[in-house]
Amino acid sequence: MDSVDTVKNEVLEERVPSRTEIFLQLEQRIKDVKAEPPIKHDPDNVLEVHNLIKYFPIKTGLFSRVTGYVRAVDGVSFNIKKGTTMGLVGESGCGKTTVGKTILRLTEKTAGQVYFNGIEIHDIPKGEMRKLRPKIQMIFQDPYSSLSPRLPVAEIIGEAVREHDIVPAHEMDAYLDKIMKQCGLQPYHKDRYPHEFSGGQRQRICIARSIALKPDFIICDEPVSALDVSIQAQIINLMMDLQKRLGLTYLFISHDLSVVEHISDTIGVMYLGTMVEFGSKEQLFSNPMHPYTAALFSAIPVPDPDVKMDRIILEGSIPSPANPPSGCKFHTRCPKCMGICRQVVPVPKEIEPGHTVACHLYD
Ligand code: SF4
Repeated sequence: MDSVDTVKNEVLEERVPSRTEIFLQLEQRIKDVKAEPPIKHDPDNVLEVHNLIKYFPIKTGLFSRVTGYVRAVDGVSFNIKKGTTMGLVGESGCGKTTVGKTILRLTEKTAGQVYFNGIEIHDIPKGEMRKLRPKIQMIFQDPYSSLSPRLPVAEIIGEAVREHDIVPAHEMDAYLDKIMKQCGLQPYHKDRYPHEFSGGQRQRICIARSIALKPDFIICDEPVSALDVSIQAQIINLMMDLQKRLGLTYLFISHDLSVVEHISDTIGVMYLGTMVEFGSKEQLFSNPMHPYTAALFSAIPVPDPDVKMDRIILEGSIPSPANPPSGCKFHTRCPKCMGICRQVVPVPKEIEPGHTVACHLYD
């Protein structure tokens, strides 16, 4: 056994760092990531995210001093090529939606870099950001609560179109008709209110509202999980059709792996705020290398009663993002945990072109 294996398998003496030590380490990490040089922009990429960090401060005492952080997103990196879809998967609370909101600048990043078509979104002033907003849109999970119940459909779709001067006023009516038809709605739906539609139709209104602004990139945050299965397929097919016709790029956030497999070109797997594996759909589904990805993918139902599912059951406690374990964040549940995993954070490594894994098994 060579020396690396010895270190890997040795159970290193565990010392739990104090809260102050953790706080100082995180402050240092934020400083280090902020000091990193800008990444080189690849014109093929619509979105480039490098070492994105979003920590929510824990404030205590009379003067609300920051004494700790909840590490919602902790060093996430990925790129999305123009006209493709990246699926972002992971269990609830792993930071998928926070990544989406931070990219959109609905919440400010703590550190890291987010480039949209070569522009660092978080560095531009608010006025410039307003001009960029139509180009990056979001479709939310719940079509019921993301539409104003007081506005008719024409106003819901047309409000931002007017605000951002997307089409001249005299062409507005014809433009709304065209957008609604593209999304499977009829022009006579314009005067109706959201409560008059079914769940699937409401999600079509949400999609129409997004594409009416002629975006390049859409963040889809669990867009079909509130719908029943037959409607899910219709909405997914509509989104894929619009992508082909309009050249859209998607970040598709979901915990439904079958849907992600259907729509995505590349997939990122998140666990407790970190990206544990990233690669093409084929690479991840045929050869999931990270133990968490393997366990997650083993839970996908097989639609064949003769095939026995070989599920990997994870044991051990799920840590909280406010107090994650040191070393690899997955080590409390990992069936392959080694001594080194408890102390050293694994760094993402490219195992094959385009396939990155953060795990000490591949050191
Ligand atoms: Fe498991 Fe260690 Fe890999 Fe983490 S680094 S996933 S604990 S083997």
